[in-house]
Amino acid sequence: MAAKRHVIIVGAGIIGASIAWHLARKGAAVTVIGEERGGVATPCSFAWINASWGNPEFYFHFRRRAMAEWKRLARELPGLPLAWCGSLSWDMPAADLETYADEYGRWGYGISRLNREESALLEPGLGEYPDFALHVAEEGAVEPVAAARLLLADAEARGAAFVHATVNGLLQSAGRIVGAVTSEGVLEADHVVLAAGAGSVPIAASAGVTLPLSTPAGLIVHSRPVSKRLNGLVMTPHLHMRQTAEGRIIAGSDFAGGDPGEDHRASAADLFARVKATLIDNADLKLDFFTVGYRPTPADGFPIIGNAGLPGLYAAVMHSGVTLAPLAGLLAADELVSGQGDESLGPFRLQRFADAG
Ligand SMILES: Cc1cc2nc3c(=O)[nH]c(=O)nc-3n(C[C@H](O)[C@H](O)[C@H](O)COP(=O)(O)OP(=O)(O)OC[C@H]3O[C@@H](n4cnc5c(N)ncnc54)[C@H](O)[C@@H]3O)c2cc1C
Repeated sequence: MAAKRHVIIVGAGIIGASIAWHLARKGAAVTVIGEERGGVATPCSFAWINASWGNPEFYFHFRRRAMAEWKRLARELPGLPLAWCGSLSWDMPAADLETYADEYGRWGYGISRLNREESALLEPGLGEYPDFALHVAEEGAVEPVAAARLLLADAEARGAAFVHATVNGLLQSAGRIVGAVTSEGVLEADHVVLAAGAGSVPIAASAGVTLPLSTPAGLIVHSRPVSKRLNGLVMTPHLHMRQTAEGRIIAGSDFAGGDPGEDHRASAADLFARVKATLIDNADLKLDFFTVGYRPTPADGFPIIGNAGLPGLYAAVMHSGVTLAPLAGLLAADELVSGQGDESLGPFRLQRFADAG
């Protein structure tokens, strides 16, 4: 019988956790190495699960497939803090909302057009309503740190090991990556997966591999938990917000967080004032904390998933990692175990940057 493939995953955010879980389910020997269990960008995320506007059709379908994979994951791993709460949005001019609804509706997205009264029925807690808004019932959100930790815990229950360490470099032998050099010593494996978000860049660079990534900052405010004020995600021209499973209202100037400016505290206070102004029942709404996260964003905006230029080295680095985690984890685990490339990952290979350049 062939020996089990041993895979090291660097990163314990939502992406590393999902890959670890899918690999452990397949019977691979898995070691997750991370500095933060639950991630770095992941705890700072707005965590909207969507295939919303602004994407080319192939990427829309990939994201929509990822939304379906969250449902599969929820069946396989009960207890995931997911809410298919839908979104109400009027964060663009009406003509752009129409174009979005027409185009994405043709692609199969379940978008409804709402008038003022219908929006008020859907979200009675708001102070103002637009004449025209869109509702996407199939969108949702997940509490991303809890989801990552649940995936990791279940992977560990299936035999995966977690090593709390910093990866400082990669171990090479005969042109192949055969392990990781960590603060706790050298660990060997058949494959090393870089799922370390922005932290993947220096690790790849240590082996001469460039991951073209930018890390724009995004500010998100979190209220103290309150009674139910919102039924779903609300995207206004001034802010994007939702209420978490814990009851916190969280918001960014858009879902990606918006620029925190020079004075993060002042920007958070301004944004929170806007949150309060948007809700009618706001007397007990208090800012608890804010996060400034750095979004791991590949140069063309699409994920990097697949071989990272050297045998034995695999990368899974992306924005919209919360939306994409269950699909990225499933496909990466399939490729690592089978050794066969999955066609649907074709547009997301690192090689595309070299081909374009
Ligand atoms: C403000 C903001 C809003 C967002 N909104 C959304 C949204 O609405 N929807 C959506 O889908 N996505 C959203 N995203 C993007 C999404 O959150 C990220 O794509 C996702 O969290 C990335 O997860 P990750 O596991 O790849 O990385 P991270 O969560 O950053 O985890 C990286 C892991 O690698 C480890 N690591 C790093 N370097 C090393 C090292 N040298 N040695 C050992 N371990 C290391 C860290 O300890 C950590 O465990 C948002 C992001 C931000 C910041």
